[in-house]
Amino acid sequence: MTIDIIGAGIGGLMTAITLQKKGYNVRIYEQAETIKPVGAGIVLANNAMQVCEHLGLREAMEKAGNRISSMNVTRSDLHPISAFDLKYFDEKYGVSNVAIHRADLQRILVDALQGSELFLGKALSGIIRKDEGFVLNFKDGTEVESQALIGADGIHSTVRRELFDENTIRDTGQICWRGVAKFELPPKYRHELNEAWGRSSRFGFTQINSEYIYWFAVLNDDQGEASSQNLSNYFTAYHPLVQQILKATPVSVIHEARLTDLKPMSNWVKRNVGLLGDAAHATTPNMGQGACQSIEDAYILGECIGKYSFNEALQKYQTLRMPKARMIVNTSWTVGKLAHIQNPVLARLRNWMMQLTPQRINRKQSEKIFELGKV
Ligand SMILES: Cc1cc2nc3c(=O)[nH]c(=O)nc-3n(C[C@H](O)[C@H](O)[C@H](O)COP(=O)(O)OP(=O)(O)OC[C@H]3O[C@@H](n4cnc5c(N)ncnc54)[C@H](O)[C@@H]3O)c2cc1C
Repeated sequence: MTIDIIGAGIGGLMTAITLQKKGYNVRIYEQAETIKPVGAGIVLANNAMQVCEHLGLREAMEKAGNRISSMNVTRSDLHPISAFDLKYFDEKYGVSNVAIHRADLQRILVDALQGSELFLGKALSGIIRKDEGFVLNFKDGTEVESQALIGADGIHSTVRRELFDENTIRDTGQICWRGVAKFELPPKYRHELNEAWGRSSRFGFTQINSEYIYWFAVLNDDQGEASSQNLSNYFTAYHPLVQQILKATPVSVIHEARLTDLKPMSNWVKRNVGLLGDAAHATTPNMGQGACQSIEDAYILGECIGKYSFNEALQKYQTLRMPKARMIVNTSWTVGKLAHIQNPVLARLRNWMMQLTPQRINRKQSEKIFELGKV
């Protein structure tokens, strides 16, 4: 059986790797002419790293990236509001959270494609249902017949547009800038992800390898004319480290994007076709789980396809994955709003409540995120 995947992002590549391991022929169609990830970092949380362990990719990820032992929310002066020690989960699951350059992650995934065919410069433009399968039409005028289709083509998915019901992309009213800089953090911060919350703004950073750090800055879109050129003006009240990091980043490598998500859908699968990753459940990045969820999708779908017929597997995959992905989307949306509270009294109250939250509650919440579903 040949399975066709649209999109060679993290979700599509991971799905190909899981399916080829189960002995399936996989064809991946990617619109880009080259696999060129955005110049930024990413944190692979424990759940994603468990999948990497299953697929034999853990060592490569750890070697290229940097282990993270604590995830902290701080005030703008980097005074901790909540510090979350990850050791409990490191021990429980035998893997750690890893911060990594997206280019390294993509390279590891592409290198792991063995037997799967990757077609670049293939932008899907339309789909026609035909008997038991589909005819896939591409922008270059070519067409391909497909019996089994996975849409891993991101938040603006063409597969979703062509074959599924209406859905809504929601705008958070927040803009995010991301960058990678040659910078060595002081030793205290080397194995931490820190996210500093100001008023209507936040700044996060983590070391992604021995030479580079990855940072992100988020502002409400009603704060004047913020841009990659003048970003540092919006973070003068933050700890001096923030200015140093921004100064170390060439403006040309800073990426700007509005933060959006996909309003939870009630259906990701139909006869012979399934949606996966951001195409099914794009989330805001506030919990650092978007890619991790697409990696979990790939793993669970692969396990289901290994056990059931393709259509039964799609149904099972949806049943197993939808509640968790939906919880992440909804919680992440709320976290984004909480992080940008403008009223100083409410912001102090929020910080106070976060400081009082016992580790065991945080641990219980994280348990729900880090635990992989079972097929
Ligand atoms: C600021 C920010 C920070 C983030 N940080 C994290 C983090 O720390 N941890 C984490 O887990 N997640 C994070 N995420 C989320 C993560 O980046 C996404 O969830 C993840 O990349 C989704 O992967 P995907 O493969 O589903 O979709 P995508 O990455 O969007 O890939 C889709 C692929 O499909 C291709 N494609 C699209 N349309 C077509 C078409 N018509 N024909 C052919 N190909 C097509 C695209 O070119 C692309 O290659 C962050 C997101 C943002 C915005």
